[in-house]
Amino acid sequence: MILDYSEVLTQTSSFGLGVETTNRELYFEKRGYCFYCKQDIKIQHNESFVDTTTLTDTAWHRSESVWLCQQCGWWEHSYHSQIESSDDQWFKNWEAKVNSAILKKFDIDSNQIPLRTLENYLSKNPDNIINIHHKKMEELVGSIFSEHYKCSAKVVGHSNDGGIDVILIISDKPIVVQVKRRKSLKTKESVAPIRELIGTTLLKDSKDCIFVTTGEIFTKNAIKTRNDALAKNLVNTFELYNRDEFIDVLKLNVSKIEPQYIKYIQLKKLLPTQTDLLIKK
Ligand SMILES: [Zn+2]
Repeated sequence: MILDYSEVLTQTSSFGLGVETTNRELYFEKRGYCFYCKQDIKIQHNESFVDTTTLTDTAWHRSESVWLCQQCGWWEHSYHSQIESSDDQWFKNWEAKVNSAILKKFDIDSNQIPLRTLENYLSKNPDNIINIHHKKMEELVGSIFSEHYKCSAKVVGHSNDGGIDVILIISDKPIVVQVKRRKSLKTKESVAPIRELIGTTLLKDSKDCIFVTTGEIFTKNAIKTRNDALAKNLVNTFELYNRDEFIDVLKLNVSKIEPQYIKYIQLKKLLPTQTDLLIKK
């Protein structure tokens, strides 16, 4: 089972003088509790300040928090604003915006898992890569390699395109990628699929290819055949990735991905003196 929090529910609340009252309860709801794990969770980001420059003669109290459940990954972001009346020092306007991650569950072999979620899961559970859907494996390779090699990737899959799974395009050059999602952790990749990839690459008028397997290793014969193809200049480049090597690239990619809640943060690293650079009303 894989937990996914990539979809977000956004709710807003407002009430006060001259403002339509909507969802008043939301403003006062308790936060910092994961309903999935049934536990209090830690605050990850917390900013608040009184902005006295953006609105004329008015103090604008603004605060923002993000909570993240370390156990399941669920998160919630809230932004609160209170505006003081310029006449009597009482608040006259309240607003809140709450973004909450939505829990979805996927079976490991589901074809519907968002790629980012799958990448994140596999970075922590690498051996489970043998259990993912074969289509997802191709998409994963396309996504990871397009980042890694800074290029575009086209997932061709099991269509009738000569057994090619993924094509990378690096400076107009096609690189043929063969993807094998083997079901056993002990699989040794033999010479036959290596020979096949050399043939497929040449038929595609390419001189570059990559073989990715969820198997443990390549056999000596497979490696020798790859080396022979390079020595005879049949191909210019021929990369081999076994499971561990592919997972290393995947982990590197995952380490660069920002947590999803980051894009909702408005008050990060803003000091009171900088508020006039903020939203101008
Ligand atoms: Zn949780």
